[in-house]
Amino acid sequence: MSKYSKVVLKKGKEESILRFHPWIFSGAIDRIEGGVEEGDIVIVHASDDRFLGIGHSAIGSIAVRIFSFEDVDPDLTFWCNKFNSAFNLRQKIGLTSRKETNVFRLIHGEGDGMPGLIVDFYNGTAVLQAHTVGMWLIRDLLAEAMKIVLGDRLNAVYDKSAKTLPFKAQIEPADGYLSGIQTTREVMEDGNRFLVDWEEGQKTGFFVDQRENRKLLSEYAFGKDVLNMFCYTGGFSFSAMQGGANLVHSVDSSAKAIELTNENVELNFPGDKRHEAFIADAFDFMKEINNKYDLIVLDPPAFAKHKNVLGQALQGYKRLNTRAFQQIKPGGVLFTFSCSQVVTKQNFREAVFSAAAISKRNVRILHQLSQPGDHPINIYHPEGEYLKGLVLYVE
Ligand code: SAH
Repeated sequence: MSKYSKVVLKKGKEESILRFHPWIFSGAIDRIEGGVEEGDIVIVHASDDRFLGIGHSAIGSIAVRIFSFEDVDPDLTFWCNKFNSAFNLRQKIGLTSRKETNVFRLIHGEGDGMPGLIVDFYNGTAVLQAHTVGMWLIRDLLAEAMKIVLGDRLNAVYDKSAKTLPFKAQIEPADGYLSGIQTTREVMEDGNRFLVDWEEGQKTGFFVDQRENRKLLSEYAFGKDVLNMFCYTGGFSFSAMQGGANLVHSVDSSAKAIELTNENVELNFPGDKRHEAFIADAFDFMKEINNKYDLIVLDPPAFAKHKNVLGQALQGYKRLNTRAFQQIKPGGVLFTFSCSQVVTKQNFREAVFSAAAISKRNVRILHQLSQPGDHPINIYHPEGEYLKGLVLYVE
């Protein structure tokens, strides 16, 4: 008799699980044998009693998130194997031993077979963000497994789940160190230094997912006047400066973000007069930028967090991109992104292309961008592909 409760699916509802999709929707469940509380580990069976997987239960339309399709005991060794496999992937793609980059994503939810968990590695500190109660309840076990797998590379594990856990859950999470203490906040990405504030900052403190796209931008920046809209900690701005930009303007509506951007500019390019940062709303700032910039970056926050606001979000992308197309200098280059998971690649293209049509400019695609290898997409969970970008040449 297993110590975990048993979730039995309705007849025929096992199909997607047999194709390794890790989510079980509440409508697919026939019955639960034994009591279940949010975050409990449950064993999932088909209607004919075949074993399907082990996962964390949750209140909501996604009722179970599977973390193992094999009948195993999810103990310390099991989680060590998960971290090992994730670390090996990062090692294979060359992220763990580069002197000029010591920040990467270690765990990307379903992409690493750990639905509900994000871990970013910042030069010795792992910042853990649980999006499910199930992952949060085992956070100490996860921290222990990480310590075993990363060894001396790891100084501390910081839990930053208070804002990402479902608000309906009957728990009182508080952010803090699970192990170790704060050492350095300084990280390096492609030779640029950043101060990361995982305690107060957005997400885990830094947008690791734009690393490759920032590098590409640096190759386009030489001699250009650059606008980095939605700059947050200034990532794209340093890449532009590193690439030899003539002028860089960073804009964000958050005063804290602008403070971080200025701090980071001082760290990398002390006293460099090419850079200026502005606290402003994107739509206001972009009212009058006619012929001012050769290169514009638009990396807004997720305009749509749920499917029911998709239409509104697409209008937002269209309005924003229209302003850029209408005003960018002839022969300019636009880097435009969407990080909303519910906005598909096709949705995003349509919004951007109709913005181009409104501006009546001749626009061509130079690159189609996505997320880097440390944000892997599980092919059985295509929902994991969230970052979409286009680099466009505007005549
Ligand atoms: N490009 C950044 C990440 C952007 S995150 C990087 O590479 O790190 C999105 C940013 O948009 C946040 O910093 C947020 O403060 C800012 N923001 C949100 N709404 C805004 C608005 N209406 N105008 C300007 N900035 C906004």
